[in-house]
Amino acid sequence: MSITTTRSFQCRCGEPLEVTVADSLNAGRHPHLRDALIAMELHRFTCEACGATTLVDTPFTYFDHERKQLFLVLRRGDLASEAEGIARLAELYKVTFGEAASPGVQALGAGMMVRLCLGVLAVRDKVIADEARLNDLVLEELKCQVLASYPELALHAVVALWLDRVTADELVLLAESAHAAEHRVVHVPRAAYDALLERGAQALLASRPELVRGPHVSMLRLGLR
Ligand SMILES: [Zn+2]
Repeated sequence: MSITTTRSFQCRCGEPLEVTVADSLNAGRHPHLRDALIAMELHRFTCEACGATTLVDTPFTYFDHERKQLFLVLRRGDLASEAEGIARLAELYKVTFGEAASPGVQALGAGMMVRLCLGVLAVRDKVIADEARLNDLVLEELKCQVLASYPELALHAVVALWLDRVTADELVLLAESAHAAEHRVVHVPRAAYDALLERGAQALLASRPELVRGPHVSMLRLGLR
């Protein structure tokens, strides 16, 4: 099942809004919530007073039995450290698939993709990448190389690149800027991903080990303290 709660927040115009958000999203049972996440409509609300839309950045768990995915989505600002997020995910895994669970459910946990995601764009990125059968470590390395080799991104104070869609020829990334609300679209040839995949995830990890810490696989780690 999916679990929802009502949250109160204030629109930029000052209007108080009551919204329903998912604390726990079961993508298998509620595929429309997964669709909403991919469409960037999940937790996006429109203010009746001023018409502005706001994406409510809220923590939630994301589970997909069929696709074998367990993601914990947290806000970076809520965490004292990355280690705290990793510990919370370990606890979630233990409660869900650990000793307290039935043997069948424990077996389900084996081979599951388990990831810590900082923010809704991070979990959306993992869902899209996994659907396209991309290796997320290879993808994160690709993002680092794109950031280093597309000079126009430096001008826009890009803090993160997020996978938006994958076609036969290219990966389309969204560049999140520290200044602008709008994301710039970056087109990367699929061949660039394939070349990195050819080198192999282990070789990439050996040359840039800071991309991964346990279940946290992200270019954001390069800026984490
Ligand atoms: Zn408003």
